[in-house]
Amino acid sequence: MIPVNVPRLAGNELKYLTECIETGWISSEGPFVHRFEEQFAQSVQRRFGIACSSGSGALDIAVAAAGIGPGDEVILPAFTIISPAASVVRAGAVPVLIDSDLSTWNMDVRQIEDSITDRTRAILVVHIYGLPVDLDPVLETARRHGLTVIEDAAEMHGQTYRGRPCGSFGHLSTFSFYANKHITCGEGGMVVTDDEDLADRCREYRNLCFQKERRFVHERLGWNYRMTNIQAAVGLAQLEQLSDHIRAKRELGRAYAEELAGIDGLILPPASADYAENIYWVFGVLCSAAARLSAEELTRQLGQRHIGTRPFFWPMHRQPVFLKQGLFAGQSFPGAEYLADHGLYLPSGLGTTLDDVRTVTRHVRELLG
Ligand SMILES: *Cc1c(COP(=O)(O)O)cnc(C)c1O
Repeated sequence: MIPVNVPRLAGNELKYLTECIETGWISSEGPFVHRFEEQFAQSVQRRFGIACSSGSGALDIAVAAAGIGPGDEVILPAFTIISPAASVVRAGAVPVLIDSDLSTWNMDVRQIEDSITDRTRAILVVHIYGLPVDLDPVLETARRHGLTVIEDAAEMHGQTYRGRPCGSFGHLSTFSFYANKHITCGEGGMVVTDDEDLADRCREYRNLCFQKERRFVHERLGWNYRMTNIQAAVGLAQLEQLSDHIRAKRELGRAYAEELAGIDGLILPPASADYAENIYWVFGVLCSAAARLSAEELTRQLGQRHIGTRPFFWPMHRQPVFLKQGLFAGQSFPGAEYLADHGLYLPSGLGTTLDDVRTVTRHVRELLG
């Protein structure tokens, strides 16, 4: 069996975890949390890092800290994991969707301007699968209209946009440390920002909005989204290996691209844009109409050969949970639909070996070639 993801825990993880146990510091009060926050924030050139329990939690915190609520509209991509839209909807605001650009698989930034209304409060950019969103036009539009930018960089640790770290662009930027991300705590997340007031608000929302003066009297509703010292210990050890991880991911991506070149109808992920080179958070492929098998059929047959895959994200305007709420009725986003209907990703974790890649690509060639 070749699983779709295997993490790599090859550094100081065990040493730091042992320290947690030996010192008895296991809760969110432990010293690794602070160290991880500081070093992670520094690694993306931000002043403040607020560690939390997941990337989805980080988005809830960022949306709340930005003051987004009922009556507000937030622009975000149709093609993404549900977390960003879920945070917006739970805050009582309305997500306004942007279609995908098939040359980058990211939101088509040229469509943002036309979606802005007098209710628009924020643009929530989500970098997809390893290549960033074209940020300059987004930031320029946001500035001109006075909009908040939230950057979901959950798939972008170690990636840059025109040489500057992803995660350094939003008023608030968020990361996930789930087991298949470039660095992991098992589960975990982080909000980063340069704004001290926003950072304070994020800390409050992470911690039930306890007040400093009267701890158990609450002016606002928050969550317990705290990160434990145990998670932070693993995160810190992982952060020390980030550049190795990015190198390994790019090597994996290049190997896949070479081995899969020239198969009829199989579309490979964009290797680069003029502002960044792909870091292949996952190695996704599209089975176009010219391919011998559909994505669904390829997934099924690879599964029979004990090769793990995952389908692509399912677009927001097709989510039953949102349609039931009356959102996105009758809307269509052909780019996002194309990605969802034709895409799957192959085993591409940090523990996936080049041997695994050769095995996987041999099977793909047999099935499609
Ligand atoms: C993984 C991911 C998330 C969610 O992170 P969790 O830690 O799993 O909650 C959010 N946004 C994007 C783009 C992701 O890839």
